[in-house]
Amino acid sequence: MAAMSEFDRVVTDLLAPHDLRYTAGRRALVSALRAADRPVTLPELLEMSVDLPQSSAYRNLSLLEDAGVVRRLVHGADHAHYELAETLTEHHHHLICNECGLVQDVTLEPRLERTLDSSFAELAADVDFVPTGHIIDIYGLCADCR
Ligand SMILES: [Zn+2]
Ligand SMILES: [Zn+2]
Repeated sequence: MAAMSEFDRVVTDLLAPHDLRYTAGRRALVSALRAADRPVTLPELLEMSVDLPQSSAYRNLSLLEDAGVVRRLVHGADHAHYELAETLTEHHHHLICNECGLVQDVTLEPRLERTLDSSFAELAADVDFVPTGHIIDIYGLCADCR
């Protein structure tokens, strides 16, 4: 096997505690998600030259999700969308089209993230809760659906 990249090493380390090997099929799924410029559905993943039967791709995505490699986004669209977990990418938010279900990634200014986090910490303190993160999705209409 060729020398492992830092990225592959991190994925391997996430899989190990779950007794999962970084098989060719799982590599294909992870590389396709890495190459995608937005969260994708299973049918889209299979179109992206992931040479796996749908059932096997689905099962492996589910295992990758359990291991914290993949994040599954459910927004009430026909199909769930998949992306790499934030531990492998970066913290971001989603713009979701109400009409066609398209999901796009957006990153907020670090200053705005800090403002959000301190606001959340303040309101959580009122109920003796310590926040460790947030998920904020923005709904609307994409350019094609307007
Ligand atoms: Zn749309
Ligand atoms: Zn954020």
